[in-house]
Amino acid sequence: MKLTIQDLSKTYSNGVHALKGVSLTINQGMFGLLGPNGAGKSSLMRTIATLQEADSGSVMLGDLDVLRQKEEVRKVLGYLPQEFGVYPRVTAETMLDHIASLKGIQNAKQRKEIVEGLLQKVNLFQVRKKNLGTFSGGMKQRFGIAQALLGNPKLIIVDEPTAGLDPAERNRFHNLLSEIGENTIVILSTHIVEDVTNLCSDMAIICLGEVVAQGNPNDLVKEISGKVWKKMIDKAELEHYQANYEVISTSLKMGKTQIRVISEEPLSNFELTTADLEDVYFSEITKRVGLAV
Ligand code: ADP
Repeated sequence: MKLTIQDLSKTYSNGVHALKGVSLTINQGMFGLLGPNGAGKSSLMRTIATLQEADSGSVMLGDLDVLRQKEEVRKVLGYLPQEFGVYPRVTAETMLDHIASLKGIQNAKQRKEIVEGLLQKVNLFQVRKKNLGTFSGGMKQRFGIAQALLGNPKLIIVDEPTAGLDPAERNRFHNLLSEIGENTIVILSTHIVEDVTNLCSDMAIICLGEVVAQGNPNDLVKEISGKVWKKMIDKAELEHYQANYEVISTSLKMGKTQIRVISEEPLSNFELTTADLEDVYFSEITKRVGLAV
């Protein structure tokens, strides 16, 4: 099964053109959708999750027409939204059982088995009798994944899942997602490049409502390898370098500014450096919205 998005466009009533002819083919496994805030990621995710309408274009999940056969799609979809609210005074077990019955799992015994299995899978079984309000950010996210997994979905969408998680929680969450990605389409929408580097076999970069790059992360990095140069400069010189070079990113290193530059030609006084996915990302984004400083 694959998800095929063709020429999807959306303009909100306030005139914001959030999606401009987005086309993507997404196969089984972990797919990373990377883009800065405001790029259109959530608009795309909500449209695929049948929660909002597009103006034109099509989305097919296997044979299902996602924009029209919404009820059918919802049966095979798991969605973890950006803001996942929980009822603070309900236990994890009770809440999951309730969502399971809403998803149509009628038989109480079967439901109990499924709920317990999922709580084990996301490593919350020990705390199943605790109120959701006592959970850490990471625990809430894992609970969110458990509810998204109810009903064995074929497509799972997670929107900005690691914002606010500490490194250990993030790691645990990553492992859980990779496990799920083995036999499902998982779309991970994020502005954190590292999440995609670590997890995804396929990805797209979206900016200002358009897909600006797509493919295997390693292949995308190969395209710019041998062309990324770095140099330490004084902050005051940045404007000069921006005027004369294709500066893709800046970072502060021990009080000095390091710039990374793309160039096909060797640059004297610069050091050639190993390209990574951040370079791919920043070169695409900087081209379109300018340098983030
Ligand atoms: P991302 O998830 O990449 O941050 P969004 O899809 O949330 O991007 O937003 C894309 C653009 O659409 C932004 O300019 C945002 O302000 C705008 N936008 C998002 N949702 C709405 C809405 N419901 N009404 C009007 N504008 C919106």
